[in-house]
Amino acid sequence: MHDVIIIGSGCAGLTAAIYAGRANLKPLVLDGHEPGGQLSLTTHVENYPGFPDGIMGPELIENMRKQAQKFGAEFRAGAVTEVDLSRRPFKIIAGKETYEAKALIVAAGASARLLGLPGERELIGHGVSTCATCDGYFFRGKPIAVVGGGDSAMEEANFLSRYASRVYLIHRRPEFRASKIMIDRAKANPKIEFVIPAVVDQILAPKGHVEGVRVRNPGTNETLNIPLDGVFVTIGHDPNTTTFKGKLEMDSNGYLIAKHGSLTSIPGVFIAGDVQDHRYRQAVTAAASGCMAAMDAEKFLEEHTQ
Ligand code: NAP
Repeated sequence: MHDVIIIGSGCAGLTAAIYAGRANLKPLVLDGHEPGGQLSLTTHVENYPGFPDGIMGPELIENMRKQAQKFGAEFRAGAVTEVDLSRRPFKIIAGKETYEAKALIVAAGASARLLGLPGERELIGHGVSTCATCDGYFFRGKPIAVVGGGDSAMEEANFLSRYASRVYLIHRRPEFRASKIMIDRAKANPKIEFVIPAVVDQILAPKGHVEGVRVRNPGTNETLNIPLDGVFVTIGHDPNTTTFKGKLEMDSNGYLIAKHGSLTSIPGVFIAGDVQDHRYRQAVTAAASGCMAAMDAEKFLEEHTQ
């Protein structure tokens, strides 16, 4: 029986573990299917406060993990497959293991969708990115592509045009899912060139870093190679919440809904990080919400000693 179990070992989960550890709650952290979360998939992080020269994402997350361990957090590998939140203690099942907890913090994160092309995942940090705010700065004066046709793609294309010499907005259909105002803004931006309809067939990276993309017009099958240095894949995120369907309140996109900070409709279950945030999605905001969840869990345990 654990006082607190934390599902997820990204920025939110690890910050919750640091706070819960320092409150003497000996938290157990279940790593999940992407240990370290999205920070472990990025390279240089320049906007996390306290690191004037920046820090590598994996190093930042490893430091947080060590910091949590220092205060007594335990870690177990494995993704959660089932939860029983109908009574306390809560039951959390990860493969063959069943755990029990008086309080639960869900910090399972969200995963950026990828195109599913060969080598794409390996090129993250070498020209492929899923986060304009994180990586835009590295492409100063260079041509890049944004793939996607939703509001995020329009927003990121506009944002990236501050740095990049040219932004190719590549979308698979002639119509857009994005709102008109966002499309108009992108169309009015002289640095943004629309490449539509176009499917990215290949990311060209013969030397291990992005040098271009091969796109195909799905109507005519005509192909075109576009030389560029970066590909921002902006085709949406999926919150890791399937295990919680019907158990915790979520919006139509599957994001968990927080009440008053980190609280949920089930007393003793708290949520933090990208699993409940599709708006800010920053390491620092995830960390802050992890802190809130741990403080709320500590208060809950003080008030419910049975
Ligand atoms: P989204 O609206 O779901 O759009 C995803 C886009 O990616 C679509 O254009 C989709 O193409 C494309 N796509 C999906 N899978 C693909 C694949 N395998 N290959 C190529 N293209 C693919 O996602 P989002 O843009 O991240 O927005 C999510 C939510 O946040 C939306 O409700 C949005 O309005 C909101 N948001 C709002 C703002 C704002 O108001 N400032 C900013 C950002 C996001 P198809 O259209 O062909 O399916």
